[in-house]
Amino acid sequence: MPALADLDPATLAQQFAEWGYKPSHAARVLRAFYEGREIISSSAHGLPQGLVKRLQTTFPSSAATLAARQIAADGTTKLLLRLGDGRTVESVLMPDFRADRAAGCLSSQVGCAMGCDFCATTKTGFERNLTAGEIVEQFLALRREANAVGRKLQTLVFMGMGEPMLNLDAVLTAVRRLADNALGALGWRQITVSTVGIVPGIEALTATGLNLHLAVSLHAPDDATRARLLPMGKRFPIADILAAADRFQASRGRPVTIQYCLLAGVNDSLEHAHVLAELLGSRRMHINLLRYNPTGLSLRGVAYEASSDETSEAFAEVLRSRKLVAHFRRSRGKDIDAACGQLRRRASQEPATNL
Ligand code: SF4
Repeated sequence: MPALADLDPATLAQQFAEWGYKPSHAARVLRAFYEGREIISSSAHGLPQGLVKRLQTTFPSSAATLAARQIAADGTTKLLLRLGDGRTVESVLMPDFRADRAAGCLSSQVGCAMGCDFCATTKTGFERNLTAGEIVEQFLALRREANAVGRKLQTLVFMGMGEPMLNLDAVLTAVRRLADNALGALGWRQITVSTVGIVPGIEALTATGLNLHLAVSLHAPDDATRARLLPMGKRFPIADILAAADRFQASRGRPVTIQYCLLAGVNDSLEHAHVLAELLGSRRMHINLLRYNPTGLSLRGVAYEASSDETSEAFAEVLRSRKLVAHFRRSRGKDIDAACGQLRRRASQEPATNL
């Protein structure tokens, strides 16, 4: 039997009708569930006692359990959630500079098949897609963490483990639930889907018409450099990726975000910056410059390092001198396993700690 996080209001309403209860109770039950209230352990919400008992015995309140938690000095909290089949997945809560807000980073797959050479997730390979319910479970776990420290989970990004465009149906099913007015969790514009540049996925997202944000992880301004870092770069040239991103941007009227992780001696020269500026010059896209969290030797045997502050600033200055909007994304959780996939990898090698 699925958990409540696996169900949409229509499916639960049908189940209630089959049990002989009013279908209209379904939206109320799910809304309370998404708000983190213990709806199925109490009849305090005006539900018939018999229905509460059926809910308690039929649906587990959660299909994911906390396997490990790391909290950094800056408040960044990384969760390792154990799924029903024993596999684990990472989710991250990032405090905003406003004291009452936080952002959440969700995974879309267990592991990842993309093979980005600088990424810790890629070292454990791909295991499976997450279900929509498992994605919702991550949101609920992060919201509990946010509430516990007096913050509101205000925005969500799909930038954790996995390539969201390769599990787009489940990602969009989860997002539709989180943005469902009847469930009252988040607005569309509070959610960002990222991609390493899967062109058919960008096209499919554009076709949905959903008013989400799109972030494209470019990480290099030319195809040769990109193919060294991201094997997927051989399949989708930068020109095709940006053309697809252009169409998304034109259809939504809001800037796409370009993610660019600065790696010392790899993609951070002034020449790289000028080529990137040329590439993005006529576009209104925003550029997020990321500071790299080293993850040890890569699969190709490279020990990537973060660019120095001086080099990073010079890179950003080239972009800004061309009137491009370029920001540094704050580096989070440096004193924990901050890079995507690190905690999961460590937890598979040693007993869980910091719960
Ligand atoms: S960076 Fe993202 S897409 Fe690339 S291997 Fe890591 S999780 Fe997958």
